[in-house]
Amino acid sequence: MSKLHELTAKQIVEKIRDKEITAEECVSSIFERISEVEDKVHAFITLVENEALKKARQIDEKVLKGESLGRLAGVPIAVKDNICTKGIRTTCSSRMLENFVPPYNATVIETAKKEDAIIIGKTNMDSYAMGSTTETSDFGPTYNPWNINYVPGGSSGGSVTAIMAGEATLALGSDTGGSVRCPASFCAAVGIKPTFGLVSRYGLIAYANSLEQIGPITRDVYDCALLLSIIAGHDPRDSTSINVPKKNYTRLLVNNVTNLKIGVPKEFFEEGVNKVVSQTVWDGVKKLVELGALYEETSLPSLEYALPAYYLIAMSEASSNLARYDGIRYGYRIDEEGLNWSETFSKSRRIGFGSEVKRRIILGTFALSAGYYDRYYLKALKVRTIIKREFEEAFKKYDVLIGPTMPTPPFKIGEKIEDPLSLYLCDILTVPINLAGLPAISIPCGFTDDLPIGMQIIGKHLDKSIILRVAYTFERNTDFHKQKPNL
Ligand code: GLN
Repeated sequence: MSKLHELTAKQIVEKIRDKEITAEECVSSIFERISEVEDKVHAFITLVENEALKKARQIDEKVLKGESLGRLAGVPIAVKDNICTKGIRTTCSSRMLENFVPPYNATVIETAKKEDAIIIGKTNMDSYAMGSTTETSDFGPTYNPWNINYVPGGSSGGSVTAIMAGEATLALGSDTGGSVRCPASFCAAVGIKPTFGLVSRYGLIAYANSLEQIGPITRDVYDCALLLSIIAGHDPRDSTSINVPKKNYTRLLVNNVTNLKIGVPKEFFEEGVNKVVSQTVWDGVKKLVELGALYEETSLPSLEYALPAYYLIAMSEASSNLARYDGIRYGYRIDEEGLNWSETFSKSRRIGFGSEVKRRIILGTFALSAGYYDRYYLKALKVRTIIKREFEEAFKKYDVLIGPTMPTPPFKIGEKIEDPLSLYLCDILTVPINLAGLPAISIPCGFTDDLPIGMQIIGKHLDKSIILRVAYTFERNTDFHKQKPNL
């Protein structure tokens, strides 16, 4: 039998229900694993072992009494540290929020808890979710579990590392421009960025509201569909939340892609995209064709403008969202006598924010300032509309679009961090999806030098069932998801 920390959520729920294992055994084995590997990977910022064990015992009691159990009964879940957890420190990996303990739960936490999931800790991330490597965390980087000299991707690097290292069974991340899919690709996990508005953002600490979504990160497609079924749904507390009926996505997982139409945009394979990555993802497409799908090459010419448009919009929104950290209401506050309001404000921010966060606030403020607003911000919004339309046109012909998630395999820690532009370029294939508000999933489709490569499957607005079905069919007919990092 697999070790408890290697079980999927589906297996854990079944085994607890059938009294083969207890929730306490499961949580204990996760914490044992954490004590073995956490020093190597640094996936967590905060661990809540006592609370987790207490919750596990409550679930075991429910089992003994024959009470009904939630759909995630006893499943250890790791939560990205920008999702508010009542009574558990939520830092956004920033000094600014180092001691922030939210007085409320994000909606996704409430729904996961209602289903008896067990929160085991809060995971490391790029500070304020700004980054693609988890290196901009004010508390030090996370290391890729496949090779600790490499970045795990970001910004949800801690969440992905935690599940791939066996330190959690499920994880939650957030994706503004790729932050779920990028680390999923770099660590061979499954990660989905849901359609904009499908999952409540209430309690997610905002970076760029018009782009971001909370998404599940798991080791297989079934668990991804399971967690998505739980967190998706209308929430009146998030004004962008869409009012669509709740779905059980696990029921839609069928091993069949016959006659499904795949579009392969040539822009996803152009210069800047590593040859091995291109080849591996093409092999993935061909595998789906072997399984009965049809494919055609296509073109989305405006994708070329997606990256600048994304960074303009994201930074502009960030500059306004992060204005609330004034050192007065909450967050870090400089402890010095005799400072006036303005000095308190600027000194607290100077110390509380890391350099990447400051860079983005400055650039975003510039893009929104009088005289430049039309030239930059407004133009970026227009580009966004064109990109959206281009995707809409493409989806008249195809059921899904497929390309690489990331243009390269994981790279070494420290390799790009001093060069922000080269880091921004890593997001070239993920940000168009956020601009268009579409759903996309990253699944493992190969390895190069023992480092993972991810394939991105993009769907129509609200059409999660097809991307999950394609991902599921690929997974059922390949072995990439069965490989485990050797830690
Ligand atoms: N790497 C992108 C950025 O830094 C995306 C981050 C994210 O999705 N949170 O903006």
